[in-house]
Amino acid sequence: MKYQIAVVKGDGIGPEIVTEAMAVLEKVGRKFGHEFAFQQVLAGGCSIDAHGVPLTEEAIQTCKAADSVLLGAVGGPKWDNVPSEKRPEKALLGLRAALGLFANLRPAQMHKALSAACPIKPEIIGDGFDILVCRELTGDVYFGAHGRRESDKGWGVVGYDDMNYSAFEVERIARRAFEMARVRSKKVTSVDKANVLETSRVWRETVTRVAADYPDVELGHMYVDNAAMQLVHNPGQFDVILTGNLFGDILSDEASMITGSIGMLPSASLNESGRGMYEPIHGSAPDIAGQGIANPIATILSCAMMLRYSFGLKAEADAIEAAVEKALDDGHRTRDLATPGEKAVSTHEMGEIIRGNL
Ligand code: NAD
Repeated sequence: MKYQIAVVKGDGIGPEIVTEAMAVLEKVGRKFGHEFAFQQVLAGGCSIDAHGVPLTEEAIQTCKAADSVLLGAVGGPKWDNVPSEKRPEKALLGLRAALGLFANLRPAQMHKALSAACPIKPEIIGDGFDILVCRELTGDVYFGAHGRRESDKGWGVVGYDDMNYSAFEVERIARRAFEMARVRSKKVTSVDKANVLETSRVWRETVTRVAADYPDVELGHMYVDNAAMQLVHNPGQFDVILTGNLFGDILSDEASMITGSIGMLPSASLNESGRGMYEPIHGSAPDIAGQGIANPIATILSCAMMLRYSFGLKAEADAIEAAVEKALDDGHRTRDLATPGEKAVSTHEMGEIIRGNL
């Protein structure tokens, strides 16, 4: 089978890590008899340099026509002073909107071999944790009316951002979360602030209604302030965390940090047809760009997510994840993972080791 993948290498370490991930996909293709055809697209700072805008219409069309998009990272100090409508990050928002991406999936898993990097005490971590944060991407306070007005109490300027969620949006993401939980540990924790927010009461009612269609999945509700505490108190209790755009933004970063290694964490953003954009959660790391020392694992694991969620290639995705696990178990570390004095491998060497394990 042939799959078309639009590739946005982006800025900073993007080209280095994506090159390794593409080579991993090619290796998987040879091993399992698939063809992955890559079409390179400029987006972010490199597109500003080449075309004067962070995302061209042509780039959007290439990504829309592809079966999925693989993205490195965009942005960097070179473009920090461009006007806000032209900033590299606008490329991400433009692609999310053009592709209709509404479900952001972020696994936060502790790799046993890296447990020393976890900032939480071993007695709390126990057997580790394997969390999937399922965050809604199109609604919430980010997309309501924004503005400023004068305070009628004479307190000066008031900024406001209207928070809203429709039952349609909540149901769409809830179904995705329950389906994910079905192939994991069959537990969904829906996170909201229903004791205070009407938006959250609509959220909770809708999730509860949808849950009736998934009787094999256990549903629990948790207030977001408690969820933030529970993530560091007892992360092992979570399987799928289902939440809105704002709470998901914060909790998914918290969940990532308790794994202790930003260079390890992949993500997927999916649309209704199951196509998606796959990218590491980290940024373009301009401080280490061009040195060949970036960790390519988050990008390589993002490819595994692409195979699993957009192409339905489970065995192939498992093979990539096992190859990464073996590289770590065998003691290979890029500089970000190495302890002081420990020998570190380069970006390319880590890619080669993982491909060797395949
Ligand atoms: P960052 O994630 O790029 O870097 C934070 C720290 O983590 C740095 O010390 C960096 O060296 C390290 N790091 C990140 N990825 C690594 C990897 N794969 N291997 C080893 N070390 C790694 O965050 P930042 O410094 O806040 O942002 C840098 C630029 O990236 C900014 O322009 C920001 O806007 C952009 N950014 C882009 C995305 C994206 O494209 N999705 C996401 C976040 C930030």
